[in-house]
Amino acid sequence: MAASLFNFLRTASEMPAVHEGAALSRRRLLAAGCLCCALPFARAQSAGPLPAQALAHLEAARRAAGDDLRAYMRLGDGIAPTPSAPPVSPDALMALPAPAPGWAFDNLCFVGNRWVSAWGLTTPEGLVVIDAMDNDDEARTLVAGGLRKLGQDPATIQAVLITHGHGDHYGGFGHLRSISGARAAMSEADWTMTETKLEFDRPDWGRPPKRDLVLKEGEALRWGDTQIDVLLTPGHTMGTVSLLFDVREGKRRHRALLWGGTAFNFQRSPDRMQRLQAYIDQTERVRRLVEAQGVDVFISNHDLFDEAVNKLQVRQQGGASGNPFVMGTENVARALTVMNECARATKVVWST
Ligand SMILES: [Zn+2]
Repeated sequence: MAASLFNFLRTASEMPAVHEGAALSRRRLLAAGCLCCALPFARAQSAGPLPAQALAHLEAARRAAGDDLRAYMRLGDGIAPTPSAPPVSPDALMALPAPAPGWAFDNLCFVGNRWVSAWGLTTPEGLVVIDAMDNDDEARTLVAGGLRKLGQDPATIQAVLITHGHGDHYGGFGHLRSISGARAAMSEADWTMTETKLEFDRPDWGRPPKRDLVLKEGEALRWGDTQIDVLLTPGHTMGTVSLLFDVREGKRRHRALLWGGTAFNFQRSPDRMQRLQAYIDQTERVRRLVEAQGVDVFISNHDLFDEAVNKLQVRQQGGASGNPFVMGTENVARALTVMNECARATKVVWST
């Protein structure tokens, strides 16, 4: 699996290279297969002027992103005349040394690698883990090993909440279950997907868990005084789940949103176009909810978007500027606007 995602897509699509820069301005998007789930996947099939409406949405996304949220502009790179960043290969990210585990808040820790994130939430009744990494080996070394390094006992994991049914989020569940008896929780739609047809499967991803707990829209999961509110946010998959919960830093409480599926993997087929519309609808819906609840922390399950590893390092170094994971409600809403506008731009291109 040494080939980069970029080369994989070129091979898969049997199309000439894209990203020729400004000269390429109109694109009919090719339904390119995607190797994974956190990178922009759409690829151009032919050149020509990008529709003005699509350019307007991309510009709105750029304005919303500013300098601090530019990582989310990767979502527009499948159609943008000038990509915001070079394509990145998941293999390259997985090959990087894993960052040290660390606490983002007093009750929330990062135990992932540079490709995909897993998070541990401490509760009075034990640990809740969000996503299980790619495979058992990563779950053993990064999740269980990371929790131990942070003074936590992985045998107390009560549940693993799986944000969506792609293997880089459930692949390590088997190991976590074997050491703790943890339950697996996923949405109905994505349980069904993993039982019927695996998307973007890879040989180095573990196999899906057996159907267990089903996460539902509006459900409040409780472990002692810890509550996690479940949102169904279809888009990346039709059963993608996002989670709302409180995080603590000293005496301060913040409201965190973990977005369960950021990358675009849409194609010009009816079901993928349905996902694209769902992504647009959900980013709008949740943006209103963020404003209503004063959500001020926005995290992802891929470092590529939320830059969690960098934020952890900044936090560990201390400093007067405060916890970098605390973005403020206005900036969380801005991140959702960037995602929404990139999705709208993509829809314009795909609809023409
Ligand atoms: Zn995915």
